Amino acid sequence: MDTFTPRHVAELSAFVTSDRFSTGQSNRELHRHDISFHLGTLPAGIIWPLTTDEVSRILSWAYDNDVPVTPWGAGTSTEGNPVPTRGGLVVDLTLMNRILDIRPQDLQADVEPGVLRKELNRQAGKHGLFFPPDPGADATIGGMIANNASGVQTVKYGATRDYVMRLTVVLPKGGIIHTGCKAPKSSSGYDLTRLFVGSEGTLGIVTEATLRLTGIPSHFLAATIRFKDLESASRAVALMIGSGLGPAALELLPPGLIRLMNREKHLGLPEEPSLFCEFHGISKNVLQETADLAKEVCEDCGAVGFTFETEEGARKDLWRARHEAWETIHRAHPKKQTLIVDAAVPISRYPDIVVFSQKIVEEYRAVGYVFGHAGDGNLHVVLVGDPADTAEWSKLEAINHAIVEKAVQVGGTCTGEHGVGIGKRKFMQLEHGESYHLMRQIKETIDPKWLMNPDKIF
Ligand SMILES: Cc1cc2nc3c(=O)[nH]c(=O)nc-3n(C[C@H](O)[C@H](O)[C@H](O)COP(=O)(O)OP(=O)(O)OC[C@H]3O[C@@H](n4cnc5c(N)ncnc54)[C@H](O)[C@@H]3O)c2cc1C
Repeated sequence: MDTFTPRHVAELSAFVTSDRFSTGQSNRELHRHDISFHLGTLPAGIIWPLTTDEVSRILSWAYDNDVPVTPWGAGTSTEGNPVPTRGGLVVDLTLMNRILDIRPQDLQADVEPGVLRKELNRQAGKHGLFFPPDPGADATIGGMIANNASGVQTVKYGATRDYVMRLTVVLPKGGIIHTGCKAPKSSSGYDLTRLFVGSEGTLGIVTEATLRLTGIPSHFLAATIRFKDLESASRAVALMIGSGLGPAALELLPPGLIRLMNREKHLGLPEEPSLFCEFHGISKNVLQETADLAKEVCEDCGAVGFTFETEEGARKDLWRARHEAWETIHRAHPKKQTLIVDAAVPISRYPDIVVFSQKIVEEYRAVGYVFGHAGDGNLHVVLVGDPADTAEWSKLEAINHAIVEKAVQVGGTCTGEHGVGIGKRKFMQLEHGESYHLMRQIKETIDPKWLMNPDKIF
């Protein structure tokens, strides 16, 4: 459905003020793709609701009129997650961006879905608190909930799922439900909150969330640890975690990517296989002891060099460079696109998947950067190519496929954090077997017409 009839336009326009519904070409184009190569179909229109009741009226109308609906946050997904595939209506949540309440004494915040995570952290920071899940992009809380996003600090603090206590969700037919509670624990019935976290907008639209916050640590120490090869670096990962060092970040980086970062950001880092780590603690002394122990553990795995960074500016530069790794790769390969492997495995199998991935990228003579959130067993291989060059792109697809198969074989997953979207649908049966059919039944029960974010996950 790429155009609305005059009746559709009149009825939709009645739900919101005139500046919050558009069938204009540029708005439609802007909501046709996320940051990936996945190109959707043009939606017929975009609507910007302000309240749960407006969302409810819009979804009820869409259901009665068989109009496909795609929720939209900041559009920073990497798998086509918010991309319309059957036209219809995009519900853009960015104007529902109020932080409704911060309750420092409960370590909680109530937010609307369009709140950006950096803004939430600015406001929570005034109370000495923060919301730890940190995808590189300044994503919306709704998009993070829908993708169960995580990031470099997940190894210590957990993923978005671990911070969502209560949700208000508008279901595909327009019904409004509240899931979960504000108590720190509950054994009350099915955990519907966690059903909606990671559902990628296929089961309804989140219009409000109560989030758990945590205290900002008082002391930080970052370290770069260099190894002779990526395998040794990845072997150190399980040991660091097993030694109870509790790193707050533990990232694997290859020399090729550090070279690009140095070139762009003038970091002056040695271009060797490395782990970027960070530790958070209650005093400088505790951090120094932790760092000394980390050094010993890494030396046992063949580490060849250490640099500790306590100075705020240098530490922030390091992490900014890591957060922008994907953009840096894109800038180094203009006119190319990237296919991002996002597999995750048990950490004991991390060295195997790293070595396997390096080997297969070489065998196919592809351009690919092997790195990742090592502390979570999460591997990104950013493969560079041109989707229009079918021979080249099919090689990248084959590499992605082989790595996912290997990850699933050892009990892992096709996506550690980016979600399924369009790109990883083909792996769902492989990974979930019979459970995949139960997922379909759940979808069918909640959205019998399959109108909510169609063609995603399934
Ligand atoms: C440079 C860069 C680095 C990144 N690094 C990471 C990383 O380290 N870890 C990580 O997890 N991700 C990462 N990402 C991916 C992305 O930022 C996250 O997945 C993020 O959570 C997407 O949020 P968004 O607001 O952009 O949502 P969108 O992309 O707009 O939407 C995401 C999904 O949520 C649905 N949705 C949006 N709002 C709602 C709502 N209110 N209710 C129901 N469904 C909704 C959409 O339909 C879609 O399926 C990165 C992206 C970039 C560009």
